[in-house]
Amino acid sequence: MSPRIPLVDLKAAYARRRADIDAAMREVIENTRFIQGQEVAELERDFARFCGTSHAIGVGSGTAALHLVLAALGVGPGDTVAVPAHTFAATAEPVTWLGARPRFVDVDPETGCLDPIALKSAIDGVKAVIPVHLYGRPADMAAISAIAADAGVPVIEDAAQAHGAELDGPEQTRRAGALGRAGCFSCYPGKNLGAFGDAGLVTTDDGRIAAAVRSLRDHGRTSKYEHQVVGYAHRLDTLQAAVLLVKLRTLDADNERRRVLAAAYSAQLAGVGDLVTPAETPGRRGVYHLYVLRTAHRDALLAHLNAAGVGAGVHYPIPLHRQPAFASIGYGDGDLPATEAWARECLSLPLFPELTAEQQERVVAAVRDYFETVS
Ligand SMILES: *Cc1c(COP(=O)(O)O)cnc(C)c1O
Repeated sequence: MSPRIPLVDLKAAYARRRADIDAAMREVIENTRFIQGQEVAELERDFARFCGTSHAIGVGSGTAALHLVLAALGVGPGDTVAVPAHTFAATAEPVTWLGARPRFVDVDPETGCLDPIALKSAIDGVKAVIPVHLYGRPADMAAISAIAADAGVPVIEDAAQAHGAELDGPEQTRRAGALGRAGCFSCYPGKNLGAFGDAGLVTTDDGRIAAAVRSLRDHGRTSKYEHQVVGYAHRLDTLQAAVLLVKLRTLDADNERRRVLAAAYSAQLAGVGDLVTPAETPGRRGVYHLYVLRTAHRDALLAHLNAAGVGAGVHYPIPLHRQPAFASIGYGDGDLPATEAWARECLSLPLFPELTAEQQERVVAAVRDYFETVS
């Protein structure tokens, strides 16, 4: 049997740039500036330029990025923060760490991102709203920002899956991370800009938020020995910054490759069975962190693909409002119908810049095979 096709191939990603990454890591290992070394500052400069923001701040993870921005905005006990429920748990966890409560909001049936209409009726009294650019697809930021601005509520982007995603505006095209008060990025290994461990970045044009996040990530320090507030240990390792600097150089090309592969999947899978291919919204250029189909046959198709050596996955089968971790908030089945439909029907196919045409053909053939012979 042919080798298994993984959902993400981190070995192929390393093999392509092995010499550059090895040299960059060796430099840090030899100069031993493991904490706040110059690579962290270089990455912050380059990533801010990449996103088109005045500031980028390296942090320990995407979750830490959200935690620090919420803390910088003063979210605390008694507050509520509006978040979608069709996302990874990390979108909501930091809200609860600060003593606040997530208010789960339904998603748009077509895009899977926060639904502006649902947000409108949920925004009363919230301290912040966190839309997620899910699967690398920009949320409807024009509508969300207008609703949030009316209510005087800051918008924090969960851009963990969306490095380089673009949104056309009335005057200019802007990138994820530059679309709200602050952007929170994950550099978890499998993300579009992936480190060799945990890593993340915060972007913002707001100098006060940037300064607060810089201090809070490093024990609330304002100087070596002075701690203005009780902060956190949420710094970005220099070794991770060195890896990310190498990978950032090819991020635009890698994202373009993802878009080409996604278009090929959609062309070859349109009209197969009951498959719904990912929506492409004019003016919103996603970066396909994941290629996600919908089908009523999800579980059977998933089992068929896995048995055929195709590493398909599900993002995410249990929405946050139905997770035991958030049960005490009191949501029930049926409370967020579009979210629950996504959780039942979504299926992710292997997608990464190094995916070969031959591998993609095998994935497509296995999907077709299911609908022709099994279902
Ligand atoms: C990956 C991810 C996070 C968390 O990032 P980490 O770097 O793993 O902490 C947050 N939100 C979303 C949507 C993610 O996909």
